Amino acid sequence: TVEREKLTYELFGTAVRELAQQVADDGFEPDIILSIARGGLFVAGGLGYALDVKNLHVVNVEFYTGVGETLDLPVMLPPVPNVVDLGRRRVLVADDVADTGKTLKLVHDFCAQHVAEVRSAVIYEKPRSEVKCQYVWRRTDRWIDFPWSVRPPVVRRGHGVGDA
Ligand code: 5GP
Repeated sequence: TVEREKLTYELFGTAVRELAQQVADDGFEPDIILSIARGGLFVAGGLGYALDVKNLHVVNVEFYTGVGETLDLPVMLPPVPNVVDLGRRRVLVADDVADTGKTLKLVHDFCAQHVAEVRSAVIYEKPRSEVKCQYVWRRTDRWIDFPWSVRPPVVRRGHGVGDA
């Protein structure tokens, strides 16, 4: 089996600080950080503190599943980000990973239609990504285990398989 890329919560703390430092060193001062739920919420929260940005937004994106089939395109779920809030500003889009890059491209292109400047920050970018993010902490072509999704959801005690 192929070795996985493993991110711990502790290493995530380092990653998000170093990612923020890249943004700061580059002189980019976002007015808004737009996170892509759910993985991007962790990244956006960390970047928000590290860059002293309080204006955080969320967009939900899912790969669309049609009747009995999965399309190869992600879709933004309502509510879509408020374009009045986003108007004429500098937006930093935050996500955990750009894999195919399709999710990030969707959000990036949406923002680009409404704001002065949009850039993207991710913890990981894979080589096949069709989007090249401005700020990347690590590059890998492996599957990544994130600390927030590596374990299954909790189950109510006394009702599920997680019982001791
Ligand atoms: P995309 O292919 O559009 O760039 O990525 C879509 C989403 O799939 C990501 O935001 C992430 O939630 C999930 N994903 C893609 N690659 C990985 C991976 O290596 N590990 C995990 N845990 N999720 C991934």
